[in-house]
Amino acid sequence: MSLIVPVEGACPACGHALAFETFASINADRRPDLRDAILDGSLQASGCPGCDQQGRAPCDLVYLDVERRSWILAHPASDLLEWSDREEDALDMFQEAFGPLTPLPVRAMGREFRVRLVFGWPAFAEKLRCQDLGLDDELVELAKVAVMRESGTVHLDQTELRLVGGDQDEITFAWIDPGTEQAKAFLTAPRTLLTGIEANPAAWAALRAEISQGPFVDINRVLVPASGERNE
Ligand SMILES: [Zn+2]
Repeated sequence: MSLIVPVEGACPACGHALAFETFASINADRRPDLRDAILDGSLQASGCPGCDQQGRAPCDLVYLDVERRSWILAHPASDLLEWSDREEDALDMFQEAFGPLTPLPVRAMGREFRVRLVFGWPAFAEKLRCQDLGLDDELVELAKVAVMRESGTVHLDQTELRLVGGDQDEITFAWIDPGTEQAKAFLTAPRTLLTGIEANPAAWAALRAEISQGPFVDINRVLVPASGERNE
């Protein structure tokens, strides 16, 4: 089921009280409209009656899509530094739902799932976009490294590179502020960038192994030290 929790907030622009409906869990099989709303950026968004600003409550939920064999734990973008601990939580939660103590058919199905951990709406939408475009999300993360190298542009201070669109020929990335979801710049690459990486596994093996070590399949696991490791 999809579990809704009402949350009181304040408009970041004018301070007017805002009421949000936030989701603690989403079942995309039963509510494909919620999946669409994650992709188009409207989920948990609310217009402010005091001004024209659009506010959005951060994501903090468990997402299940049996049809696509997708399980995602989505945390607020502000929790990114805790990725290492949250990754353990994600694995524990998934084990509880699909692990050794569950009935055999559930366990068997669980082995087919892609378990993922994301921080913030842009990262969340990106995983669903990869599914829709038929893209391997590990390859997409490697492609980001290739794009950064090629373009020589790195906006790492406040932005993250996220896949925001694509078709049969091209994929489009944007440098996005994960807090405000504002895109600062766009980069388009040919889709052959991905097939090129796939065709040259030896060159990417080390980075791919690091990126796919756990559910947090994201270039940020290389770029952002996990909290607790920062002073080492
Ligand atoms: Zn307002």
